[in-house]
Amino acid sequence: MYRKFFFLALLVSTLYSDAHIFVYHRFGDNKHASTNVALPELRKQFDYFKKHNYEVISQNRLTQALKNKETISDKWVILNIDDSYKSFYQNGLALFKEYSYPFTLYVYIQATNAHYGDFMTWDMIKDASKYGEIALHSNGHHHMVSLSSNDVYKDTKKAYDSFVKNMGYPPKSYAYPYGEYDLSVRAEIEKFNFDLIMNQNAGAVNKNSDPHDLDRTALTGAPNLKVKLRTRVLETKWIEPIIYPQNGVLKNIHATIPTSIQKVEYYVSGSKWRVAKVKDGEVNISNEIKLTKTRTRIFLKYGNQQSSIILVKGK
Ligand SMILES: [Zn+2]
Repeated sequence: MYRKFFFLALLVSTLYSDAHIFVYHRFGDNKHASTNVALPELRKQFDYFKKHNYEVISQNRLTQALKNKETISDKWVILNIDDSYKSFYQNGLALFKEYSYPFTLYVYIQATNAHYGDFMTWDMIKDASKYGEIALHSNGHHHMVSLSSNDVYKDTKKAYDSFVKNMGYPPKSYAYPYGEYDLSVRAEIEKFNFDLIMNQNAGAVNKNSDPHDLDRTALTGAPNLKVKLRTRVLETKWIEPIIYPQNGVLKNIHATIPTSIQKVEYYVSGSKWRVAKVKDGEVNISNEIKLTKTRTRIFLKYGNQQSSIILVKGK
């Protein structure tokens, strides 16, 4: 009986989905395969959105919905582009125009100011701003967690001021370089009153999502879009760990999730998926895991619902 209920609950939960923020980097540039989307693939994805009635919305619309605690449509898709590579302007933008899909372009400010060859100029960025939103992707594209709080602030201030000088208005959103952050990085970025702050923890968005910690899923190569669009938010309050553990040993994973869930799958970078029992919504996993990478992700998953965090080794 209990088993039956468990599978029924799991089945019902997989019938629904949430909104998604996808992030691209390079377009039609196969010299950099790991961050590239080929143009035929991009067209395939855009056709898929169209055919299955997904609505590609502007980020402003999302901001408004989150502010008003509106129900977020599971048909909403938000498209981000990080790093402002020239290949977006030269190859990608035409397709966004053709489908009238809005986007948010996160500019790596120093690359533009110093005229790094692979990056868009301010003129290109201003032209692109006719079709989408322009936002901030830091000044120096540093690994923020390794910087002092003061240096995180200084980098952001420099980027912010240069953005205002060139665009004539302030940016409304910020995306962390490499998707890396922790609580102290976040605190510095929050001083600039952005509406939205984007991470790169694969996931989804619903009305309870934190506007200052939005999950984005990268689309590179030939991803299984259908599966990615099915992902839902697992409502999670992460209690431990919050920062990269001292000595790199992860001793405990502690979080609260909905009380209806009795079992979760979990994953820590470098190891395999495992199952943990959940009691009264408490995930409490004791396990000595030696973290081998400077960047570790922890996932909790129930059916198609998932939540993840990133732990970055800092100073
Ligand atoms: Zn970047």
